Amino acid sequence: MNICESNICTGCGACVGICPLKCISMERNSEAFSEPVIDDNICNKCRKCQKICPALNYKEEDNDDSDVNFYAVINNNRDVRKQSSSGGAFSMLAEEVLRRGGFVFGAAWADNFHSVKHICVDNVNDLSKLRQSKYVQSNTIGSFSKVKTLLNSAALCLYSGCPCQIDGLLNFLGKKYENLITVDFVCNSITSPFVWSSYVDFIEEKENSRLSGIELRTKNRPYSLYAQLFSFENNCAYIKYTDDPENYMKLFGKGLVGRSICYNCKYRRKNHKSDFTLADFWNADKFDETLFDDGGISFVIFSQTPKTQTFFKDSCHSSTVKKVEISEEWLNENLRMIYNSPVPAEGRKEFLSRFSDGENLSNLIKEVLA
Ligand SMILES: Cc1cc2nc3c(=O)[nH]c(=O)nc-3n(C[C@H](O)[C@H](O)[C@H](O)COP(=O)(O)OP(=O)(O)OC[C@H]3O[C@@H](n4cnc5c(N)ncnc54)[C@H](O)[C@@H]3O)c2cc1C
Ligand code: SF4
Ligand code: SF4
Ligand code: SF4
Repeated sequence: MNICESNICTGCGACVGICPLKCISMERNSEAFSEPVIDDNICNKCRKCQKICPALNYKEEDNDDSDVNFYAVINNNRDVRKQSSSGGAFSMLAEEVLRRGGFVFGAAWADNFHSVKHICVDNVNDLSKLRQSKYVQSNTIGSFSKVKTLLNSAALCLYSGCPCQIDGLLNFLGKKYENLITVDFVCNSITSPFVWSSYVDFIEEKENSRLSGIELRTKNRPYSLYAQLFSFENNCAYIKYTDDPENYMKLFGKGLVGRSICYNCKYRRKNHKSDFTLADFWNADKFDETLFDDGGISFVIFSQTPKTQTFFKDSCHSSTVKKVEISEEWLNENLRMIYNSPVPAEGRKEFLSRFSDGENLSNLIKEVLA
């Protein structure tokens, strides 16, 4: 039995968590992404997995778009903001949860930077593991069950992830929890964890050393340069810029290694399923000249409910926050991914199929990025 067609599965992992017989595992598919596979010898066809699958049960929110609010956020802690992908709004919200004794779930590097995994943190020091965008699909397995247990024990929890992961989590939970805060982002697309792992092998081999740190949106160079920082155990470190011929972000930007559904994603609208949606406030100064800053500014989007209103107000004390009135035209021009999916590269299928057949990644990169 298949839960849903491969080309609409987001890989959110909700089905794995809900299966009462634990007979679903995530396996590598022909496009080098993880997708659920059922052990038919154990499955009793209860169809719980299909009932909660967000790909099969997507519902538009009833929220009226006119109710949506936009804020510019700059975290006043310079170190936190420097470690964040944009203005540090995620840390602002997460710190409020930790201050209240709660738990924060988000995506962290795992397996010595070879993969990304959802973890739970309960203290401010560990929050740094979740900061920064990792443009690689995160493994959520285990995290949905863990957050459910915590929520049922009345703990305050913040769960952050891609919009499809948040939809999967909400379906998995099956009821509203007042003690849950969900945070997602305007999402371009997510890339293959298997291609990423091979890329890490490739750069480690080249440097003859293991990685000790990665910042895919480093602020050690002007933010607008979109540079990446790679640090190694042999104390070497280098920056890759967008014109680097071996730049992973080029594979991402050209639409070569994204998940199939990302090119036709349903979460392209202002109000997502989450309480808060984050984005990069590019060109903020063109919108409002007092917002000029090359350190990154977060764009926070949310519908006013008693929960979001109170929580946002309580979180704001450590940040500079400005409510902004944004037109549809501005959004369309400056935050295109809010409404539009990226376009897959013509050679995407061939690239992923040759990679899956075992072709050397560095040769493939040379060929497609030359
Ligand atoms: C894959 C991806 C695509 C994005 N595409 C866009 C875009 O097209 N336009 C835009 O404006 N913004 C996009 N963003 C969001 C943006 O880059 C910032 O992450 C966001 O604004 C939050 O920044 P911050 O400074 O508040 O906090 P940060 O500290 O940078 O945020 C980190 C948060 O992002 C989550 N996160 C990081 N990597 C992953 C991952 N692989 N899977 C799930 N969650 C992850 C962490 O759990 C944490 O909650 C994207 C982010 C990601 C991860
Ligand atoms: S629940 Fe998520 S991972 Fe499972 S089949 Fe549906 S979309 Fe795919
Ligand atoms: S039908 Fe039921 S038993 Fe079979 S995989 Fe889905 S949830 Fe598990
Ligand atoms: S683009 Fe859509 S389907 Fe792809 S990871 Fe983002 S939210 Fe999920």
